[in-house]
Amino acid sequence: MDWISHFLFVWICCSLLKVDKKILTVALMGSIFPDVDIPLSLVFGRGFHRGPTHSIVGILILAVVLGLIFYKKSFKSSFNIGLLALSTHPLLDSILPWPIEWFWPFSNEKIVILTMFSSKHYFFFYIYLIAVGIILALTYLLWKKKKLIPIEPWFVYKI
Ligand SMILES: [Zn+2]
Repeated sequence: MDWISHFLFVWICCSLLKVDKKILTVALMGSIFPDVDIPLSLVFGRGFHRGPTHSIVGILILAVVLGLIFYKKSFKSSFNIGLLALSTHPLLDSILPWPIEWFWPFSNEKIVILTMFSSKHYFFFYIYLIAVGIILALTYLLWKKKKLIPIEPWFVYKI
């Protein structure tokens, strides 16, 4: 899944859950944080992407990291909302046909969940288009009804 869709999906979820806007930054960072493995792939090799940082254990570790980064706001809130946002990442990534190492470090097997329905690439393409369409439509509806929590840049700088 692309970063914009990850970002918008978590923004929609936070807005619907009426998350405190001071904690929104944590969630938005969490939405794309697992893809920190893309630059790390330059060090560890191409197979590293969609590996440990997209696994269940990796998501828990990244949630602790987010909690520590934003501990001044509240470790517990940052951890909880970070965990929620981080969890959406591999689930949305599952829409695409590239496998995820869900059970690292217990297993290095990479799994594509949707192949249980079809392994045809056009199937993933249609599911992706539908998901992006739903995300964009919901973003537009919430924006039009002024229900999206405003993103205020100073949250990023006043950690
Ligand atoms: Zn990803």
